[in-house]
Amino acid sequence: MHLRKKKLFAQLLVVAALMLPAPLQAADRNITDKELSDEANTTDWLAYGRTHSEQRFSPLKDINVDNIGKLKPEWYLDIPDKSDLISTPLVVDGVLYHIGNMNVVRAIDARTGKMLWEYDPQVAKEVISNNMRRVFWSASRGLSTYGDKLYIGTWDGRIVAITRKDGKEVWQTRTFPYDVPLNITGHVKAFDGKVFVGNGGTELGPTRGFVTAYDSETGKQLWRFFVVPGNPADGFEDEAQEMAAKTWTGKWWEHGGGGNSWHGWTYDKEFNQLIFGTGNGSPWNRKVRSPGGGDNLFLSSVVALDANTGKYKWHVQTAPGDTWDYNSNMDIVLADLKIDGKIVKAAMHAPKNGFFYVIDRSNGKVLSAEKYADVNWSTKFDLEKQHHVIPESAWFNDGEENIYPSYFGAHSWHAMSYNPELGLVFIPTNHLSSTFSDKGKDTDQSWRATKFQLGIAQGATIEKDPYETRGSLQAWDPVKQKRVWQVNQKHAWGAGTLATAGNLVFQGLPEGKFQAHDARTGKVVWEWDAGLGISSPPITYELDGKQMVLLVVGPGGGYFSNFQGSGELGMEGVGWKYGVHQRRLVAFALDGKAEVPTQAAPEVAKAIVDENFKVDETKAAAGAGVYASHLCIACHGAGAVSGGVKAPDLRGSPVLTTGHEQIFKDILNGGALMQNGMPKYPTLTDEDMDSLRHYIRKQAQEGAQPGAGH
Ligand code: CA
Repeated sequence: MHLRKKKLFAQLLVVAALMLPAPLQAADRNITDKELSDEANTTDWLAYGRTHSEQRFSPLKDINVDNIGKLKPEWYLDIPDKSDLISTPLVVDGVLYHIGNMNVVRAIDARTGKMLWEYDPQVAKEVISNNMRRVFWSASRGLSTYGDKLYIGTWDGRIVAITRKDGKEVWQTRTFPYDVPLNITGHVKAFDGKVFVGNGGTELGPTRGFVTAYDSETGKQLWRFFVVPGNPADGFEDEAQEMAAKTWTGKWWEHGGGGNSWHGWTYDKEFNQLIFGTGNGSPWNRKVRSPGGGDNLFLSSVVALDANTGKYKWHVQTAPGDTWDYNSNMDIVLADLKIDGKIVKAAMHAPKNGFFYVIDRSNGKVLSAEKYADVNWSTKFDLEKQHHVIPESAWFNDGEENIYPSYFGAHSWHAMSYNPELGLVFIPTNHLSSTFSDKGKDTDQSWRATKFQLGIAQGATIEKDPYETRGSLQAWDPVKQKRVWQVNQKHAWGAGTLATAGNLVFQGLPEGKFQAHDARTGKVVWEWDAGLGISSPPITYELDGKQMVLLVVGPGGGYFSNFQGSGELGMEGVGWKYGVHQRRLVAFALDGKAEVPTQAAPEVAKAIVDENFKVDETKAAAGAGVYASHLCIACHGAGAVSGGVKAPDLRGSPVLTTGHEQIFKDILNGGALMQNGMPKYPTLTDEDMDSLRHYIRKQAQEGAQPGAGH
């Protein structure tokens, strides 16, 4: 080519490049660990916790305590989802990525809310074609990005890599076989050319927890680490398993042991380690799985693995001999803390058990652990022994025992955030207790996806509230290990938080309020009524010099759905009846101009009284058993009273009234509603279904009595 022509051609290329539309530029960007660690980038939200530190703190302060009054919706996007929404979206180069029901991913213009593309991993099809018995936990907490791809963990146990540009599938791999009742609800963690994933399902059968890392480009398995040891007769996979086995007794491997890691996955670039939280025991009751006692490593722990090899580095066990579902699957947040005049590379962790841990992540030593909520299962964490002091009463040897926090945890997966400028951690806190008992404990540990395997009497119950309120948002000083402020809330299960340099903390509530607090005092300085419960943590990003705050409107999670029928403490009265309210994304900006349509008023499901139906008490009692043993409670609620978030209230469903027997059979035996997440039960007999009908009609009649509540 002639030199002058060459020059002109090069100039044309530059012009062409400048004219490329933004999404194409986005696709070409190669996201690296350097970018994922960049705390100063305010344009994007690249990882689950914004950056590898998982702090969920944005240096943006265009929106701040002084001008928050002008914060209004800038755009909104209605989505067709009907069930749990709990995920953190990502923002890359002006495109927002959200994972919703049945793990459908949507790419949305982050400036305008316009849909760009949708990717459906066909979860229902996978479940149906493999005859899998998936019961609830179908929601995902988020996506990851690395290089030019997005990574999805699916309910049925796959990791799917798609292009960020247009949602084209690149590879997918299964992380566990079809026939085990595990699930993935976590954000696949992408780092250093790898993706890391665990799984949930401890309560659904004798499971042995494990975590796995795959090559982010190919999906090839790189390493796997087991959370609990297997049968010693089979040989141990590594030295860590051999060490862990010394803390177990009896034939624990027959019960699986548990420890499933479904959340709490942090990549620590500075020490090239993957730090993750592990789950509770399988079954819950140690007397069943490890009858001679023992700490049962690595249950309810924070474990660090070499990121290259998956080799064990260190661990901190937060609930020795866990018997209370005190898993440690909560976020692990990295920060430099100044303690006694020295900078400590810390990992901060507030697991279910009510203690706030500050861990030196160079060696796994607990520097401090103090109670951030009311606790009676442990007297204290003994720093010298690096072990909890557990009173005898915690093991409920002498009958029923009221133990707190409850098995929902003083803090669950709802994200905490950390403002490094103020030195405060913002923790969505639950204040509930559980009653545990060995009486009539279930020792049947056969592998069934349709039954909780707890090893305690009928499952623990949420009964008493040891505190003056059920929920709160609190600011915690991790250096002083002290509460700085606390705002009491009506309900437990407040959503995850976002902290910004504008001295703000954002949080959504189950009753549908989206609030901003002054981060220094806790004072509510702004509020917006979403008209529907909120369970996802908000994010923030800046485009064209405009700061946006993005909210996912829609409730989700276990407390909303499966244990809500417990009277005053329950969530059924909040009014998110199934199928009534619109799930949507709403972006806020100063002086935003969007008019978001008003939601339908809160509506509590009403029981239908079927005049043509005569309840047979014996059949109804049998139906109660079928209801319990097939885990209907998980979505349709205790006593068939539904919180409405995952599934309808059956007492108000026409399908269970006279004349609709065939539809009922098609749903249960035929799987007609599997696309909505309703499992198929091919083994249920006509007699089982008839007894279920009697049970539901009985519950409906009682629910329709005057004074029965609603
Ligand atoms: Ca659990």
